[in-house]
Amino acid sequence: MGRDMENRCKRCCRLKTKLFLKGERCYTSKCPLEKRKKGRIVRGRPSQYKQQLEEKQKLKWMYGLLERQFKRHYWIAEKSPNITGEELLRILERRLDNVIYRLGFASSHLQARQLINHGHFLVNGHKLDVSSYLLKEGDVIEVRKKSKKLSLIKQALNFSQKRALPEWLEVDRESLKGVVRRFPEREELDQTINLPLIVEYYSR
Ligand code: SF4
Repeated sequence: MGRDMENRCKRCCRLKTKLFLKGERCYTSKCPLEKRKKGRIVRGRPSQYKQQLEEKQKLKWMYGLLERQFKRHYWIAEKSPNITGEELLRILERRLDNVIYRLGFASSHLQARQLINHGHFLVNGHKLDVSSYLLKEGDVIEVRKKSKKLSLIKQALNFSQKRALPEWLEVDRESLKGVVRRFPEREELDQTINLPLIVEYYSR
């Protein structure tokens, strides 16, 4: 399994976009992009290829994935009868690490993956340590009994109040349990991603 050692803030700076990869720090003045806001140099319009590449990198890094993992999701989306770009986003949202993050049990995708790898969660009552697992409608995700006192999870829950919980998910902050009510609708997916550019990138 490959490891991704690149500094996360560098990715945001390269794309000049906040990707929120470092949890709480991203919401403070410590974020390098906040410091850079003043005096930014505006360069000419990038080439079509560069735009496609950057959009693909943006989405891949937002979910903290390596190229191989991201491309695998793209192939699954391409085979589906739905619109490829939308389906790709829906698949990314259904990943266990993403849902753990959205439910507020982790403060970033990276932290969600670390907690999953250490076996802190149950899915439908069974221990599951596969971050890429694609959840289904009705799946119940919960923090294991012995992990409920973990300060990392408590801090993440506290911090997650700053983010809105998507309507397709449900969470009980007392019992540390969440449910996938349904799959996200198009309008509930991230509207800032230019999906056609990503499809064009992989169709070259
Ligand atoms: Fe990106 Fe967060 Fe680093 Fe800011 S603090 S540059 S949003 S990873």
